[in-house]
Amino acid sequence: MSHTLRPPAPGTVIAVDGTSGSGKSSTSRGVARRLGLRYLDTGAMFRAMTWWLLREGVDVHDPAEVAARCGEPTIASGTDPEAPTITVDGTDVGVEIRSDAVNAAVSPVSAVPEVRSRLLDLQRSVIGRETRTGGIVVEGRDIGSVVVPDAPVKVYLSADPEARAVRRAAEAGGADLAATQESLLARDRIDSGRATAPLVMADGAVHIDTTPYSLDEVIDLVVELAEQAQARA
Ligand code: C5P
Repeated sequence: MSHTLRPPAPGTVIAVDGTSGSGKSSTSRGVARRLGLRYLDTGAMFRAMTWWLLREGVDVHDPAEVAARCGEPTIASGTDPEAPTITVDGTDVGVEIRSDAVNAAVSPVSAVPEVRSRLLDLQRSVIGRETRTGGIVVEGRDIGSVVVPDAPVKVYLSADPEARAVRRAAEAGGADLAATQESLLARDRIDSGRATAPLVMADGAVHIDTTPYSLDEVIDLVVELAEQAQARA
């Protein structure tokens, strides 16, 4: 696929939503690198919150307890697509937030409205800061529907469950395929079924089923959409 690279206009937001393991992170980072944009992984914020709650011994299945404590940790995201970072109270938790314990607890925590509202403020403040000077690729579950509903480019990525499990298990150094697939599907069920900001395809989003494509091909498709949006602006 050929395309002409043009610097994106300040204010550009590319919203990338989709199911767990659909290729959102690799695609979003690749697009950000290609277009010289910043990158925000909102899933890492929900994971960081979950890691902190678990460490504090909070019952993550008790929404009232989660709501009462979720204002306490200071969560900060670094937005360099070459080396995104996530800290809680100044401590780097980039590795810890990918643990099985966090995988199992993050969706119930993310369904708590107080958690979402706290992290929404944080996400919008990062996006506001980055779009004053350039642009940003933001990935998550509710970016095009709730966080930045007027984003000029919205993408919804999906992939067959088997393909997603193979990708995730490979990332995790050869984890058990069946267990990985079950964990992904369990998160999808909770993320799609929650009352506040469920995973949906946002109005105006372009759906890309990434199953048959290589990562580079998906990045090409999103870059093309960004260039088309810029040409229309
Ligand atoms: O993207 P990732 O798989 O790391 O996200 C982990 C979890 O964080 C998701 O399964 C979902 O429960 C939650 N999440 C969310 N809203 C977002 C991003 C992530 O609820 N915008």
